[in-house]
Amino acid sequence: MRVVLVGAPGAGKGTQAKFISQHFAIPSISTGEMFRANLAAETELGKAAKRYMDAGDLVPDEVTIGIVSDRLVQRDTGNGFLLDGFPRTPPQAEALSKLLADRGTPLDVVLELQVDSNEVVRRLSGRRTCRTCEHVWHLDFDPPREPGTCDVDGGELFQRDDDLPETILRRLDVYAEQTAPLVDYYRDAGLLQSITAQGEVDEITQLAIEALESALRR
Ligand code: AMP
Ligand code: ZN
Repeated sequence: MRVVLVGAPGAGKGTQAKFISQHFAIPSISTGEMFRANLAAETELGKAAKRYMDAGDLVPDEVTIGIVSDRLVQRDTGNGFLLDGFPRTPPQAEALSKLLADRGTPLDVVLELQVDSNEVVRRLSGRRTCRTCEHVWHLDFDPPREPGTCDVDGGELFQRDDDLPETILRRLDVYAEQTAPLVDYYRDAGLLQSITAQGEVDEITQLAIEALESALRR
């Protein structure tokens, strides 16, 4: 199954991506995680992406399309993949459609996680990420047993620069301006499934899996 996850920052794409990728045994590919890994490793790509990420802006399309194209030719995508956080602009969506059409492996479904913007601000401002395993905790909804420390591997928790309040508002604007139009684009293409992303994590996972399975049966 080839699937794209779309939704505002804080909609829970990363969390749901993990469960969906396990359920369907497909790799989850997150451009945000790839950029953060490059930042941590101080690669040229990481350095180029940093100022956009810190500001809550999008990394330029050529760069982003390049890393996704390279990733999608790896062997583990043979059975499909789940894209988390890509595409985020109309040119990225066009590039993805073209790349997959050239290979005769078009997208099966685009799953939209819907959440209102007050909820997004609440979620993102309490979010804390583990430095070593990238597990995401939440001060209110899912606090670690020991403040500041990851339950999974004892890693140090930090607040992503792009989860600071000013940047959150900027990211929401960027989403509304540049990414939200993709919802219409994919609806017109007959690929869109939308579910609510407010509620318990496991209920949302259940909705997501049902929506994806029903899309596959179409
Ligand atoms: P995320 O973890 O998906 O919220 O991504 C974190 C940051 O990485 C975003 O705020 C952007 O600066 C950058 N980024 C991730 N995915 C993309 C994309 N598809 N296009 C442009 N920039 C991206
Ligand atoms: Zn951890």
